Amino acid sequence: MKECVFCKIASKKLNTEFLYEDERIVAFKDINPVAPVHVIIIPKKHYDSIKEVNDKDLIGDLFLVGNKVARKLDIHSYRFVINTEKEAGQEVFHLHLHLIGGRKMSWPPG
Ligand code: 5GP
Ligand code: ZN
Repeated sequence: MKECVFCKIASKKLNTEFLYEDERIVAFKDINPVAPVHVIIIPKKHYDSIKEVNDKDLIGDLFLVGNKVARKLDIHSYRFVINTEKEAGQEVFHLHLHLIGGRKMSWPPG
């Protein structure tokens, strides 16, 4: 199977700088940021979306890594987003958590 772009990033084929890495998770800056802080947090293992994941530890750890990266970048107010399927805005079909912050945000999201 052809590797997706986030699989390539996770396996270091694209020389992306990581803000965080452990055995199962990496975090890196979004290439097209929507806010001063926009970080993508992914499992190294490929899942098309959150719908394919039954691993509670992994889901929990993605958010805990998000908190860690927010602390590291010194933002106190932020939003986590997981777009799921096209209609909700998912463009890359490798599960990822967005960490977005550094500006005032509105609600509801568009
Ligand atoms: P989605 O719309 O699927 O929830 O979010 C995908 C995100 O991945 C987008 O914010 C997009 O800018 C980002 N992205 C897509 N391709 C790349 C890439 O090659 N490198 C990085 N760092 N981010 C990417
Ligand atoms: Zn992938």
